Amino acid sequence: MDKQILLYSAGLDSFPAWHYLGKPPAMYFDIRHHFREQELECVRELAERCGIDLTVSTALDLSSWDTRPLIPFRNIYFAMLASNDGADTIWCVGVKGDHTRDKSPEAFARMSEVLSEFAGRPIKVDSPFWAMTKTDVVRWYIEAGLPLRDLLDTFSCMEPGGRRVHCGRCSSCLRRWIALANNQLVGEFAANPWEWDRVQSYYRDAMRDGTYPEHRAEEFFAALETVGAPL
Ligand SMILES: [Zn+2]
Repeated sequence: MDKQILLYSAGLDSFPAWHYLGKPPAMYFDIRHHFREQELECVRELAERCGIDLTVSTALDLSSWDTRPLIPFRNIYFAMLASNDGADTIWCVGVKGDHTRDKSPEAFARMSEVLSEFAGRPIKVDSPFWAMTKTDVVRWYIEAGLPLRDLLDTFSCMEPGGRRVHCGRCSSCLRRWIALANNQLVGEFAANPWEWDRVQSYYRDAMRDGTYPEHRAEEFFAALETVGAPL
């Protein structure tokens, strides 16, 4: 039978994905990155509360490569380790418009090809959310009637200030705030994400000049409107 593994980090994408995919076994990779402590706490707590079949893997220590904010190509290592653990389908959650080198439909197709060839069996790396934005994912979760408290207890910050404290000053917090604000949800942040310097100094222009896909720009400006921030 097809063995599925969800790469899980208790984030605003991977937690709804666990529900969306019918609660598959989940795997968290503790690669000793700088925000592991806060992330791992949420990973364990939500898993316990929701009954997630969770494995925490310490197979890889990439702390010496922890170039902030993220370790490059980490999804390739995760997919490789999950396939080594016997997964036939590896769910690595990307959303519509994700365009990092190791997280896109094209990147996952290439990973699937290479892993299948090396393992000598069909292995698929995929995301259930390629057609949905982060805002759509949150909307799906709400409309499915799932507990809002769990959703708000997810963790998505790359520079946390302490126990479950979202900094409001990193790209991950900004995306989290946009997805919540556009669904009329209020998340907690140490500082208001819409007042982050980079919103005005970088994102406002980048969202207009085509650096980001059109739907990302629409959701960015719609969220700013909800708080009356300058557009
Ligand atoms: Zn943050």
